Amino acid sequence: MTLPTVLDDPAADAPRVLDALGPGATGPDVWRTLGAAGLLAQVYRDGDPRQGVDPAALGALLSAVDERCPVGTTLAVCVPLATCLPLLAGGTGPAARTLTDALRGDAVVALAATDDVAGCDLASLGTTVTLHEDHVELTGTKRWITNATRCDALLVLARHRPGPHFTNFTWLLVPATAPGVRAEAAETDLFDGSGTGHLFFDRVRLGRDHVVGGVGRGMSGFAAHIAVERLAGALWAVALCRRVLADTLRYLQDRRYGDGTLWHLEGVRQRYAAALLSARQHLALTDSLAEAVALRRDATAAAMLKASAAGALERVLGECAHLQGAYGFRTGGPQHLRAQAALFGIGGGTTEVVLSVMGGAATDILAGLDR
Ligand SMILES: Cc1cc2nc3c(=O)[nH]c(=O)nc-3n(C[C@H](O)[C@H](O)[C@H](O)COP(=O)(O)OP(=O)(O)OC[C@H]3O[C@@H](n4cnc5c(N)ncnc54)[C@H](O)[C@@H]3O)c2cc1C
Repeated sequence: MTLPTVLDDPAADAPRVLDALGPGATGPDVWRTLGAAGLLAQVYRDGDPRQGVDPAALGALLSAVDERCPVGTTLAVCVPLATCLPLLAGGTGPAARTLTDALRGDAVVALAATDDVAGCDLASLGTTVTLHEDHVELTGTKRWITNATRCDALLVLARHRPGPHFTNFTWLLVPATAPGVRAEAAETDLFDGSGTGHLFFDRVRLGRDHVVGGVGRGMSGFAAHIAVERLAGALWAVALCRRVLADTLRYLQDRRYGDGTLWHLEGVRQRYAAALLSARQHLALTDSLAEAVALRRDATAAAMLKASAAGALERVLGECAHLQGAYGFRTGGPQHLRAQAALFGIGGGTTEVVLSVMGGAATDILAGLDR
């Protein structure tokens, strides 16, 4: 694998590189720009997705994108960085070539796990891959997939055997232009820039070398890599909370009220402080669990981070949006952001799903409370 040249100080360069983009930049625009500057590779240890993510570098990059781009655009960068590239790193042939292209920003990759059936019940997915001696054939439907309408390649989770057993699933790398692949945009205006859409596979024929990570390794690969996506979501949530809290403080300190400003009302300060506390609690949990997910792909730690991110955003954005009064409803304001951020409780596993993971590990989590 040939890695792109990395800039001397990527953390300092990300804002400069992103500032050169126009305000309407889509996910692929940002992806290409960051890749060309060598800034995608730097979120991984030693610049290599096989070594896992460096939480500080990933957090800094997501924060720089979040500050400048709509939620949909950040989503389109976050999903492939956290899941697709590390998944491709476990493959050879087409997967290894796509990984090299993706790191340079020359290829955008989507992760297509959620099927036509209930996404929470992943093991019931109906997309099927038939394995032949010299080729494979893919048929099925995937819904609500980030980058679906704008990607160059897709990592598709399919079943090669009936039944829910975790060894019945396999990842396939599918070129977006392969005959039998069709994409359509999802019916939403909340995630501009993300290319979120639905995918239809009609007897898509591919070489056996398009199997990624081995036949039967689909669900274990999903569990490992979705943990990193949950960490990425937690890091992004810290950036979102910080941005909205800073924006709200400015509003409250500027908004005239009587002889002073809204900020001089004790009740307003207390509500703001409670939101600030939620953000700090989420940051503390993220700091304490980030390495466990990055190094060991700890599923319980990732579940805690995901549940925490969704809850913190709900509290912080809800309070900040309310504190900005009518101004909170401006285009792109916190009321709109609140609807977008509800995604943190749905995408990549709903809050209920991650709470179930925590419930299953209750004894261990409890032991972690011992001092
Ligand atoms: C903008 C966006 C981008 C996305 N990007 C991707 C992507 O890139 N790749 C991908 O594969 N998927 C993606 N998704 C899909 C996402 O992962 C799924 O929406 C999610 O897994 C939930 O599945 P579902 O929507 O089918 O909900 P359903 O399974 O229909 O569940 C609906 C609701 O039922 C309740 N529920 C379900 N199961 C349980 C349970 N066991 N216990 C208690 N309550 C339960 C929950 O309240 C849940 O919210 C994206 C979704 C959105 C909105």
